[in-house]
Amino acid sequence: MSDAVECVVVGAGVVGLAVARALARAGHEVLILEAARQFGTETSSRNSEVIHAGLHYPNGSLKARFCVKGRDMLYAYCAEHGVPYKRLGKLTVACDEREAKSLEAIVKKAEGNGVDNLEWVSGDEARRMEPELRCVRAFHSPSTGIIDSHALMLAYLGDAEAAGASLAYRARVESGRGSRDGFALEVGGDEKMSLDCKLLVNSAGLYAPAVSRTIAGIPPATIPRDYFCRGVYFTLSGRAPFQRLVYPVPEHAGLGVHLTLDMGGQAKFGPDTEWIDSVDYTVDPRRGDKFYEAIRTYWPGLKDGALQPGYAGIRPKISGPTEPAADFVVQGPADHGLAGLVNLYGIESPGLTSSLAIAEHVVSLVQ
Ligand SMILES: Cc1cc2nc3c(=O)[nH]c(=O)nc-3n(C[C@H](O)[C@H](O)[C@H](O)COP(=O)(O)OP(=O)(O)OC[C@H]3O[C@@H](n4cnc5c(N)ncnc54)[C@H](O)[C@@H]3O)c2cc1C
Repeated sequence: MSDAVECVVVGAGVVGLAVARALARAGHEVLILEAARQFGTETSSRNSEVIHAGLHYPNGSLKARFCVKGRDMLYAYCAEHGVPYKRLGKLTVACDEREAKSLEAIVKKAEGNGVDNLEWVSGDEARRMEPELRCVRAFHSPSTGIIDSHALMLAYLGDAEAAGASLAYRARVESGRGSRDGFALEVGGDEKMSLDCKLLVNSAGLYAPAVSRTIAGIPPATIPRDYFCRGVYFTLSGRAPFQRLVYPVPEHAGLGVHLTLDMGGQAKFGPDTEWIDSVDYTVDPRRGDKFYEAIRTYWPGLKDGALQPGYAGIRPKISGPTEPAADFVVQGPADHGLAGLVNLYGIESPGLTSSLAIAEHVVSLVQ
């Protein structure tokens, strides 16, 4: 005999919680299954906590659309629900003429995404804004901010529970089967159980392709290959040199070794990029050597020994190191042929910023 629930969301990261909240508020009976002992212990607590403006993503992509929409939804949500955030603004800086050319391409792309409030800043103006900064040119994004992601997840979970959803910890989805009538899941952990559901949302982050591979009925050709790209952070001991976020011109797999501030004003640098074969959050202190070099291109005042190893996050990639960066993939029934199933793949940055917009889209796919 199996238990049954209308809708299962796999994974209690920021995206899974946002989806569960939206489904519960749309009137669905929702159970969130989370493998860990707590919500948000993987990528959702190992990121930069930046509310992105929507600058860097290809025009028309899901990343661009969800980021720009999600950013506005998120600022409104934080203000309404008392989630701590600060709209600090961000400077993207060019340290030489070659990089200055790249800035123009970024601004053009951002404008194509509907980000219409960027301001060009000369090297001198940038120094007036941030006296320790060195660059030849920059642009300022006033819509970029920072957020307390733990408080955000707590608020999403509170809303979801208030709308009748529940969350089971130590409940790993181990396998399943899809049919015309819905899904039969085998759940491990503390209380092993078989569970039937009509709607299934796979929001397992780094493990989303792996979860799909264990569910019979999902066409294997629709499941992307998973790649892991680690990014480590180093924290700065002492006072932060800047009041705003400072980003260099982005690199292929990430946004470059940038400076962000947390809600307490602590400065951190990162994340860098390192392709790895399995989930491993080790921070190798030797990676700090490269950080000094990269940071001094725009902050020459960084002192030897000022950086301490921080933490690591892993980007849930679905494109490899030599391929163009993949977009978010949100698969509904039209993509895999199974009614009631939504798979979320490759939800790397800007997934935190986009969470409310992704959730709204998922609800539209299952209604
Ligand atoms: C280094 C880094 C920096 C980033 N910086 C930013 C940023 O500044 N701004 C921004 O907008 N975005 C940022 N992101 C992206 C953002 O963090 C992610 O998009 C977001 O956290 C993804 O949330 P999620 O819920 O999809 O995944 P996760 O947070 O990984 O949650 C997935 C959950 O699923 C659970 N799970 C896995 N398998 C199973 C299973 N079989 N059964 C049950 N549960 C399971 C896991 O335990 C986990 O809790 C960054 C990402 C990285 C890696």
